[in-house]
Amino acid sequence: MQLAHCGWPAIQALDKNTPVVFPIASLEQHGHHLPVFTDSMLLGEIVARAGEQLADRVLFAPLMWLGNSDHHLDFPGTLSAPPRAYLDLLGGLLGNFIQHGFRRLVFLNGHGGNDVPSRQAIFELRQQHRDRRDLLLLTVTYWQLGDPLLTPGHSFQQSQMGHACEWETSMVLRLAPHLVGDLKTLSTVEQAPGFGPAERGWITKDRTTSGHIGSPQWATAEKGELLFRAYSSGVVDFLERVHRWDGESWNG
Ligand SMILES: [Zn+2]
Repeated sequence: MQLAHCGWPAIQALDKNTPVVFPIASLEQHGHHLPVFTDSMLLGEIVARAGEQLADRVLFAPLMWLGNSDHHLDFPGTLSAPPRAYLDLLGGLLGNFIQHGFRRLVFLNGHGGNDVPSRQAIFELRQQHRDRRDLLLLTVTYWQLGDPLLTPGHSFQQSQMGHACEWETSMVLRLAPHLVGDLKTLSTVEQAPGFGPAERGWITKDRTTSGHIGSPQWATAEKGELLFRAYSSGVVDFLERVHRWDGESWNG
């Protein structure tokens, strides 16, 4: 079910245990070769595919394309919500649906910079509704919900998601090849080893001058289709689990 297509009486009539999904993405630089709307396009496709299979039991809010992308602001074109405003926005969206009586609210995220704000938003909301043990407030990023490396016979070179990388570029090639620039001139930008176990405050320019991280030169549309299948079926399995939740344990 698409919230955007429903009238209010239809929403009122829904079982209030219906999972409500808020897709959150971004508009930010994706290297020399991909459009700034990449994250929103990719999450939109995954939501469309998953939504077809969950049409009778999950309600999808329209995709929120503006995200937390301050770390990309050195690259022209990036649009970022001020982080504190974004935190309030996320909390407010879920708060609206708590007011409408719904109990199972899920951020489905498609952008790394939204991870911390979405976690903080549901954490704060739970404190505000501390007597509501029936509330299930969740946030999850789509690439945590499927492992493309389990696809038999795959030829992925990367072992994890990067940025404007083999994986994201493959998915844009599958969706909109006319928006993908020349890949032949691109080369691998390695994932930084990091400062584990600590987290360092960083900006994207600390990690890449071109804007991509990973190996976009290995991208193909066929790999993109495998990625979409892996992630959309992972999203379906996860949301089925939210739908089945017994109000107590998350096992099973
Ligand atoms: Zn991206």
